[in-house]
Amino acid sequence: MCGIVGYIGEREASSILLNGLKHLEYRGYDSAGVAVINSELTVKKKAGKVSGLDILLQTDPVIGKVGIGHTRWATHGAPTDLNAHPHTDSDNNIALIHNGIIENYAALKKKLAADGCSFKSETDTEVLVVLIRAFYDEFGNMAKAFRYALKQVVGAYGIAMVSTFDPDRLFVARNGSPLAIGIGDREFIVASDASAIVQHTRQVVYLDDGEMAVIERDRYVTKRIDDDTPVDKEVEEVVFDLAEIEKGGYNHFMLKEIFEQPEAIRNAMRGRLDLEASTVRLGGLMNVIDRLRDAKRLIIIACGTSFHAGLVGEYLIEGLAGIPVEVEYASEFRYRDPIITKEDIVIAISQSGETIDTLAALREARNRGAMTLGIVNVVSSSIARQTDAGVYSHAGPEIGVASTKAFTSQLMVLALMAVKLARMKRMSASEGRTILKALHELPEKVEYTLSRHEQVKEISRAYAEVPNFLYLGRGYNYPVALEGALKLKEISYIHAEGYPAAEMKHGPIALIDKNMPVVFIAPQDAVYDKVISNIEEVRARNGRVIAIANEGNRQIEPLAEHVIYVPETLPFLSPIINVLPLQLLSYYVAVDRGCNVDQPRNLAKSVTVE
Ligand code: GLU
Repeated sequence: MCGIVGYIGEREASSILLNGLKHLEYRGYDSAGVAVINSELTVKKKAGKVSGLDILLQTDPVIGKVGIGHTRWATHGAPTDLNAHPHTDSDNNIALIHNGIIENYAALKKKLAADGCSFKSETDTEVLVVLIRAFYDEFGNMAKAFRYALKQVVGAYGIAMVSTFDPDRLFVARNGSPLAIGIGDREFIVASDASAIVQHTRQVVYLDDGEMAVIERDRYVTKRIDDDTPVDKEVEEVVFDLAEIEKGGYNHFMLKEIFEQPEAIRNAMRGRLDLEASTVRLGGLMNVIDRLRDAKRLIIIACGTSFHAGLVGEYLIEGLAGIPVEVEYASEFRYRDPIITKEDIVIAISQSGETIDTLAALREARNRGAMTLGIVNVVSSSIARQTDAGVYSHAGPEIGVASTKAFTSQLMVLALMAVKLARMKRMSASEGRTILKALHELPEKVEYTLSRHEQVKEISRAYAEVPNFLYLGRGYNYPVALEGALKLKEISYIHAEGYPAAEMKHGPIALIDKNMPVVFIAPQDAVYDKVISNIEEVRARNGRVIAIANEGNRQIEPLAEHVIYVPETLPFLSPIINVLPLQLLSYYVAVDRGCNVDQPRNLAKSVTVE
């Protein structure tokens, strides 16, 4: 959440900062601002999107070769000009941007106010810049003031700071919120993720929690915040291309990413199918695979869409490999004193690998002795680095706030894990072969399903004005119902709920009338007949049925107002196909309603605050 960018070098900072912010805007869009140092500090900031800041900078450019920029996802204080970052000290000599929450800001503020300090905004962030200024007045050393102030902070942060007191340095720090330093030729670009860096350099250093860096034009030092000891950081190479983080002719990132799914799931499988042994190869789990096979219990922790992937994972791993699985919201897990033993294996699922709730839950599990694994998309992200082992989902950068290709890639990884474990336990080689064949055919089926998007677009027109939606599915497709409802809520603001189809009669059926659209996920699997009965129950109450069904199933046509046909696959892989029309439906409904699909209100990608 929130995008941070910083620059120090030989070029004009403002256009580099603005460009970086455009790439980071998916992380927050409540306000945008920059601070640039020439001989003086100039701050330009504005509530609203980066485009507003862009206009401001065109009419009133800022000059300077050191600077910082921010897009905000407000936690403390309304999204106003005044609360926009960067925040400054009383006489405009220090500017600071922050991603995260300063949890003890109220206590710090009270103390600073008692010492005579005044404040201009309602944010937690401003307290930190005022505190740094107080330490600077005491020590006369910017790096020391920065470090001492951070030592007083409780909470999560990614921070960048510039100051006229030390005009040729850029200061950054990290505790809980990501921060990467891009190493260029006599220049450095820092950012909360590499998408703002890759057009300048691919050489990147990732700060770890509790670390800070002081950056000059031709050198940088990284050190620990608590005791000032230097730390040697590995320089990593960023692998993705700029083209991957641009829209490439699509109207929205979300649509582009929906259509990237055949390739994304191919990438999630690449090199992982072992045809000879009729099994799956997962290099990242090699050292822990025996422990996984013998595990008494797996606990999957995740949030949002990743949580829904986790629910499918439960069905997959229990169903195929016979290992008991529990799935928990990471945010609940960490605060409810969970019973975790050394025998347990905890698997965190996160697209960004930075989701703070998941990260914190993971640490909790680790403290209690569990082995931890990660299923993440972003290489070298915090979760990837802080787990004992894991599998990358390789979906490529996902910019659309509503997750699509990251979800199907997570499902693919979970399916591969389940098959791997099943083959080590109770699945025969011939069953393994059948599955490998189905996996191999899947990307083409995904492609084919997406090629029928016009039909979904057509159907969506009939539903753009409805206030509510219900999504129902059973078995492997119950989590798909949850995910379909979440997608619609996120980007169209239509109230939607997902339920296991059979649960409908225990409550939600009261909502059904002639105005209520009900999306049924009804592939021809073991529970198909039961789902048909549930459809009949809705019809008997005049509900409007939209069915996702397998091609060739004519029986369902008279029962539904609309049928969206999808190709058949093995039941445990069907969520990867069935979720596609639901993603498209939510997309087209949102577009019809005039919603901003890539930047839905109140949301942000990569949730790095609690
Ligand atoms: N807590 C800070 C604020 O509300 C930073 C939020 C963010 O990460 O954008 O301004």
